[in-house]
Amino acid sequence: MSALTSLRAAAKPAVADFDPLHWRRDFPILGQKVHGKPLIYLDNAATAQKPQSVIDAVAQFYSQSNSNVHRGVHALSERATAQYEAARAKVRDFLHAASTCEIVFTRGTTESLNLIAQSYGRSHLRAGDEIILSHLEHHSNIVPWQLLAEQLHLDIKVIPITDTGELLPGAYEHLFSPRTRLVALAHVSNALGTLNPVREMTAIAHRHHALVVLDGAQAVPHLPVDVQELDCDFYAFSGHKLFGPTGIGVLYGREALLAEMPPWQGGGDMIRTVRFSGSTWNELPYKFEAGTPHIAGAIGLGAAIEYLNAVGMDNIAHYDRELLGYGARELQRIQGLKLIGTAPHKAGVLSFVMQGVHPHDIGTIVDQEGVAIRTGHHCAMPVMERFGIPATARASLAFYNTRADLDALVAALGKVREVFR
Ligand code: PLP
Repeated sequence: MSALTSLRAAAKPAVADFDPLHWRRDFPILGQKVHGKPLIYLDNAATAQKPQSVIDAVAQFYSQSNSNVHRGVHALSERATAQYEAARAKVRDFLHAASTCEIVFTRGTTESLNLIAQSYGRSHLRAGDEIILSHLEHHSNIVPWQLLAEQLHLDIKVIPITDTGELLPGAYEHLFSPRTRLVALAHVSNALGTLNPVREMTAIAHRHHALVVLDGAQAVPHLPVDVQELDCDFYAFSGHKLFGPTGIGVLYGREALLAEMPPWQGGGDMIRTVRFSGSTWNELPYKFEAGTPHIAGAIGLGAAIEYLNAVGMDNIAHYDRELLGYGARELQRIQGLKLIGTAPHKAGVLSFVMQGVHPHDIGTIVDQEGVAIRTGHHCAMPVMERFGIPATARASLAFYNTRADLDALVAALGKVREVFR
């Protein structure tokens, strides 16, 4: 678990001419005032804002091409199908997957993870089998496995984390046994920002004949991701955190695995034939897309990916690292403020607590200054428990944020200090 392959790009020198303000102009929502102050949006890990091109793609679909996909012979249906499938091809290229068969559209990361648990898990795991998770997972990468464990009498093992929020070195491999079938890990932690060495961890899991599921919800907005290079078996993410619409997400799965998995929801589009004597299933990836999909969402996600390709994921990764470093240094100057999650390899997230102030009060006061951050357990209650705190305040970054945004956060935290002397 030493060198982080995923960080190769981020280790290059920063791109000097990356101008966040140039890109920020593409996000109409960011031009507004909140409580009379310019909006400083630092809640990107919850959901990211949408560039005009994504908004236009969705509006254009509904105003010019709206129709159902795959089943129509008329012009609009063919156009809608072509746009929907073009979006799938953009996702394939974005993740560097081998084929569009491996790209399943879902409602989001949560649904993608539940799909793996219920389809792969129920058909391949047996009582006494083991799943390894880490202590820094989002609830979406814990609860589906707990439900499965209850259904099948599986055991869940948990990789502990250190005081800096890293996975405890050496602890991981000791958790494997001949019954370990699957490892499910966040690529980047939403509560702490830790970037896990998933390439190396995947190699270890494969040596133990276990499959690897990666929760990429917080990684894809910050880093270039190559599923073939990571060599993971499944990868999940949400469109809305990637500057695309809500209600659309992606499950990448290796074709050979998806091919042998049963459908997890039944209905239209996922079948080849239906008879009362029994039904047969459509080819990949449609076997896993029952019912009318979120067509406009997929098209919007495709537009978001096109936009990110123009910005450049390498540029985003370099800039994110720089901005994160600046934010961490500035926040640490504030008296009584403690960063939660100080791993050397991080992406996008600055979680903190302030002595004598409940995080919800921090969030409410900085909101009055126009600064949007998130407070709470961030759907990662085990992380809060590990650090002995009920909640944190979390500023989460996107490439349209600037040092000035972080200065505004620091100034707003000054107001918090004034109130809670
Ligand atoms: N996994 C991680 C790491 C997350 O940060 C989130 C959302 O915050 C999720 C999963 C769930 O994503 P969604 O609610 O879009 O399904």
